[in-house]
Amino acid sequence: MNSIGPDTPICQSCGMPMRKEEDFGTNADGTYNHEYCQFCFIGGQFTDPGLTLQQQIENLVDLAVTQMHMEEEDAREMANNTLPPLKRWHSE
Ligand SMILES: [Zn+2]
Repeated sequence: MNSIGPDTPICQSCGMPMRKEEDFGTNADGTYNHEYCQFCFIGGQFTDPGLTLQQQIENLVDLAVTQMHMEEEDAREMANNTLPPLKRWHSE
């Protein structure tokens, strides 16, 4: 599949691996937030605060199919395994 090592942090919202500093989101004070990626969390806030887990799963399935060329069934299984345990979806 890909070469994500066990030490590669993944975004706790969308599951994206974050390999370099610029991949991380930012806090309100401008420092990097090491739990969320640059697409999900900017300036201390989620870029899409109303997003639901189900929508995030659909987004990831879509991305995996179109960009990683996975079969939809496999992509859905991957998304359903990856996203629900992440921190963002356990905060409430
Ligand atoms: Zn993210």
